[in-house]
Amino acid sequence: MPPEWSERITAALGRPAAQQPPWPDPGQTRPVSAFLSTLPPLVTPEEVRALRRQTELVARGEAFLLQGGDCAETFDATREHLVGTAATLLRMAAVVSGATGKPVVPVGRLAGQYAKPRSDAVDGLGLPVYRGDLVNAAAPEPYGRVPDPVRMVEAHRAARATLDLLRIGRFAGIHTSHEALLLDYERPQLTVDPADGRLYAGSAHFLWIGERTRRPDGAHIAFAELLANPVGVKLGPGTTPAEAAEYAERLDPHGEPGRLTLISRMGAARVREVLPALVERVAATGRQVVWQCDPMHGNTRVSALGYKTRHFDDVVDEVEGFFEVHRALGTHPGGVHLEFTGDRVTECLGGPGEVTETDLAGRYESTCDPRLNVEQAMALAQRTARLIAR
Ligand code: PEP
Ligand code: MN
Repeated sequence: MPPEWSERITAALGRPAAQQPPWPDPGQTRPVSAFLSTLPPLVTPEEVRALRRQTELVARGEAFLLQGGDCAETFDATREHLVGTAATLLRMAAVVSGATGKPVVPVGRLAGQYAKPRSDAVDGLGLPVYRGDLVNAAAPEPYGRVPDPVRMVEAHRAARATLDLLRIGRFAGIHTSHEALLLDYERPQLTVDPADGRLYAGSAHFLWIGERTRRPDGAHIAFAELLANPVGVKLGPGTTPAEAAEYAERLDPHGEPGRLTLISRMGAARVREVLPALVERVAATGRQVVWQCDPMHGNTRVSALGYKTRHFDDVVDEVEGFFEVHRALGTHPGGVHLEFTGDRVTECLGGPGEVTETDLAGRYESTCDPRLNVEQAMALAQRTARLIAR
């Protein structure tokens, strides 16, 4: 790493960083980071630039961004599970592009979505909370919940294996993404491309900053500022128009269409009220961002029997509200960001199979948030295609 970049990275990551694991011995992360930095990057700058050209088309209103996969990927994901996610993503993309005649850019929550921000430090059993396979083990057992930096090497290996699967045949057009949460994992994978002298994340094509780590003076936004990759920021209902404008100006300083994706996750009940002022304020900066709708994270609730769930109707309603807002303002509703699986799980209520509260116990397999099953995902793709074509 050239010294001028090292200094800028150190300054960015020296800012307050929310949601970092309480490593038992921070000294142990150093040899792991050193090892990670010797490995070839998981994605190449050329691939990242290819995705940037596609997100530019989305920002200009000429294409649609379809992003999704598990809430939390796990290291033990089977080949069938990964193929199911990738195949479902491509089937959804085909439904949307078939109905609209516009290209769809498929991006997976794949090959790196292993770290989770959590609201509480302990879970319902009083154990340290599960923070994703990148940090600790999901099983409710005290020893496994101790954050272990060696898991960052296992994550890299799991991501590589997933990418090997995606790089063959029909999956080769899928780009990868995850939340850039764990900075000790991201930093050693940074690389400067001699071709253009810019800094690239080597861990995924597209990275986003989550709702819980987007404070403007924090390390995550400062990290994203340094990257040449396309980056996203999740915006919850508490986002102010001034904050949204600040993200646009700092994360897209040169006014490059599609450099920044703003991912609204307001909830079906709030999207029509909160989103318009954000869209108008960002448009006033002159930036052409991608506006994307995450209709999952603002619609989470706990079922009578204690399952974290979402209702398919709320998900559809938020997507509809997102389209209504953009249609009214004359801006481009650029895409959706979803949690789904190709498996026939029962984690979200309603939809074509009419999953009920009692059905949730049947196949609830997510280690974090509830995902649309394959039928619900395909039905949502059809509804979204109709909204775009309208
Ligand atoms: C997520 O995408 O899994 C997530 C935690 O989202 P958010 O940051 O929007 O809450
Ligand atoms: Mn989630």
